[in-house]
Amino acid sequence: MNTTLTPYYEKKLQCLLCKTNFISTKIRSSFVKVDFYDKDFCPNYFSDEVNPLFYSVFVCPHCGFSFTEYFSKYFPPGTREDIINKVSNRWVSQDYGKIRKIKHAIASYKLAAYCGEIKREKNVTIAGLYIRIAWLYRKINNKVQEQRFLRFAMNEYLNSYLNSDFHGSQMSELKIIYLIAELSYQIGEEKQAVLYLSKVIEKQNTTTERTIVEMALERWHEIKAT
Ligand SMILES: [Zn+2]
Repeated sequence: MNTTLTPYYEKKLQCLLCKTNFISTKIRSSFVKVDFYDKDFCPNYFSDEVNPLFYSVFVCPHCGFSFTEYFSKYFPPGTREDIINKVSNRWVSQDYGKIRKIKHAIASYKLAAYCGEIKREKNVTIAGLYIRIAWLYRKINNKVQEQRFLRFAMNEYLNSYLNSDFHGSQMSELKIIYLIAELSYQIGEEKQAVLYLSKVIEKQNTTTERTIVEMALERWHEIKAT
């Protein structure tokens, strides 16, 4: 009996759109060791070879519909047809279910963002896809694409905050406000960064999320010092 445990396992899924069953590779959490996080919470792992970020998106090999565990099962009226026209009818069958290289990971997130936009997923869900695309471009030092997707993510977090659509997600209001500030800073929108940092700092006496307040204060002092 082979008892060697590999970092990978196969997750059984059902496509939310066409209902076909398929398999997607995932990474066992026991193999994942975070070294440190960037200021926008991008995880840096001790080994980039086993990167769980590569495996968050499930791509249906049959119809191309791409989603994450945060997508809702509900399709607003007309959106199924829209995805079938824009995605499935143009889909050339590809299997994203195996071990992925970074370019496949990026492609999978772009597919999920496109499907999520058409399906009108919550802004917070779409933001989470865009920020991860930016992180992946950061890993391969593609600054132009990183900036482009940080901006998309910032706009989605801003809409999420303004529409309060983050309720029931894993994101707290404070974390969203902080990310609007941090991403604004990273794309050179300093005025907006300061405005949203001050919103975080205002809550320092009422929140339990001390780490986020401290990160905001750090960035605030850094901006004021320049
Ligand atoms: Zn499908």
